[in-house]
Amino acid sequence: ARKFFVGGNWKCNGTTEEVKKIVTTLNEAEVPSEDVVEVVVSPPFVFLSFVKSLLRSDFHVAAQNCWVRKGGAFTGEISAEMLVNLSIPWVIIGHSERRALLKESNEFVGDKVAYALSQGLKVIACIGETLEERESGSTMAVVAAQTKAIADKVTNWDNVVLAYEPVWAIGTGKVATPAQAQEVHRELRKWLSENVSGDIAESTRIIYGGSVNGANCKELAAQPDVDGFLVGGASLKPEFVDIIKYKN
Ligand code: 13P
Repeated sequence: ARKFFVGGNWKCNGTTEEVKKIVTTLNEAEVPSEDVVEVVVSPPFVFLSFVKSLLRSDFHVAAQNCWVRKGGAFTGEISAEMLVNLSIPWVIIGHSERRALLKESNEFVGDKVAYALSQGLKVIACIGETLEERESGSTMAVVAAQTKAIADKVTNWDNVVLAYEPVWAIGTGKVATPAQAQEVHRELRKWLSENVSGDIAESTRIIYGGSVNGANCKELAAQPDVDGFLVGGASLKPEFVDIIKYKN
């Protein structure tokens, strides 16, 4: 069985005081055990070590990005090796905000995922279509091409979580319906089965992101191919605890 995964992507938000407050809320929360739900929060780089040092030990941290290859003369970048050196276990790669605003291509994202995995990081790899792409009927073609660029470079899927985040649902309050999410997740699993392997399709977690909150998470989580969430806005609020406890 695929363990339910709840990720909190804090994006480019927070002050030291705010970060302390969020972590305190998380540390005091009564949640299911780590064997039932895997919880990973992703603060901005500058707060990563701070959060890691304060956060309860059954929750884990993720970076929001890393450099595509070995570190060196790449001003402003953070390498996978540095994250490993700081015992940061996870990294988010290919978020749609980076794909759109920083022009990260499918191929570049695939290279990043492969390099991060090669260094021992676990990866939350993000994919998703824009509204225009959905309305023109190309959702599956777009997410399949994004997934293929990753699959072409990845040999071991044990440490990969695939995050389906339709761009039109991110930060818009316009969540995908449970049926819309399930449809894409099912197709993605089928794609993995046909293009990677049946076992990997069965074992790889495919999580949903885009306007997930305490109220809509239950119905989404009930879909057979939705194995968790990547939460943005609501992960900065106490409501994130309700999402971790989605079963109650
Ligand atoms: P929101 O939950 O704010 O829509 O953001 C989703 C997201 O982009 C998570 O990576």
